[in-house]
Amino acid sequence: MERIYLDNAATTPLDEEVIDCMVNVLKFNYGNPSSTHSLGQEAKTILEEVRRKIANSLKVTPGEIIFTSCGTESNNMIIKSAVNYLGVERIITSPLEHKCVAETCLEMKKLKGVELLYLKPDAQGDLDLQELEDALKSSDKKTLVTLMHANNEIGNILDIRKVADLCKENHALFHSDTVQTMAHLDLDFSKIPLDFASCSAHKFHGPKGSGFAFIRKSSGLKGLITGGSQERSMRAGTENVTGIAGLGKAWEISQTKMEDYKNLIIEIKHYAIQQLKEKIPGIKFNGRSAEDKSLYTILNILLPYRNPLIGLQLDMKGIAISQGSACSSGASKPSMVLMSILSEDELECCTPLRISFSHYTKKSDIDALVLALEEIGRPFVIEKSDSLHR
Ligand code: PLP
Repeated sequence: MERIYLDNAATTPLDEEVIDCMVNVLKFNYGNPSSTHSLGQEAKTILEEVRRKIANSLKVTPGEIIFTSCGTESNNMIIKSAVNYLGVERIITSPLEHKCVAETCLEMKKLKGVELLYLKPDAQGDLDLQELEDALKSSDKKTLVTLMHANNEIGNILDIRKVADLCKENHALFHSDTVQTMAHLDLDFSKIPLDFASCSAHKFHGPKGSGFAFIRKSSGLKGLITGGSQERSMRAGTENVTGIAGLGKAWEISQTKMEDYKNLIIEIKHYAIQQLKEKIPGIKFNGRSAEDKSLYTILNILLPYRNPLIGLQLDMKGIAISQGSACSSGASKPSMVLMSILSEDELECCTPLRISFSHYTKKSDIDALVLALEEIGRPFVIEKSDSLHR
């Protein structure tokens, strides 16, 4: 059975060039970057070249890029350190954030007594920046704003430049979870005055277990892991040289091919929207995901019937896709994002599915998905009134 992969917001397959680069580093660059001999210094050079490459694209200084193991670690490090070391007493966030931000904020409330304030998204999943400005002006407490750049479920994009300006004007720190947009959108941090951001290599055809935190030099943030002077003492522990090399190669490819990949994916996304509208009557699209201003890699659909088994049924047909099931009862619960934007009726009677694309996605993958959805169809439901008459 041919396998079809439509879950690229969860993770992406490795690029062949990334694999080759990593294998080379595994074989030949096994030195510890902290060792002073030449093998160690060769490994150190690999790290510093990747750091410089990333810093050049983001228009920041290399010292502001701190390698970590993933997006989750970067977000944890930034939020926890901002509370622990920068005196943050209040966090403004939203119910749309990834769990690694949402749960870290809750932990800061529980353990450190930090005040948490949630902005309310509208039915399209957009935030009101006037509400943010009012919230910023409503207190003198030292505040961290943490709002993601693009949502990993519905693809809505936040204007982080405007948010960063508002935070600056109101003396608040601003962290943006940029895990879904790094290497997919052209980001210039010399024009966006945010303080912190995060990145994960496996979201753009790099390896799992490798990412970085952007930490603005002037912020004064400290790391959480102690016991070594690696990463400018911000993250102790011998660096994952192979993973960082893979991150660097995936980053380099994304920078040279960004426009080409973007155009390819946008064409596939438009094709998917058109096919789904044509073949699945009553289908809806969640958030802004079907609009051109959304992140081009994500399309979140709402099937007009409830089928909690759809992810499993599609998997049995060889299609890997994330469900984010909106069940009113049972084990699986709708996500916070969908609960924030869908009506009770939609949550109870419909089925959301997240289709996420990469430049490897083909039109035939979309055809296979649409055909599978048609074949699975609306599940047979015995209405209560029918069963009573039997
Ligand atoms: N933030 C967002 C928006 C994500 O989509 C993800 C991954 O799904 C993460 C953070 C966590 O990244 P990682 O898997 O590298 O820990």
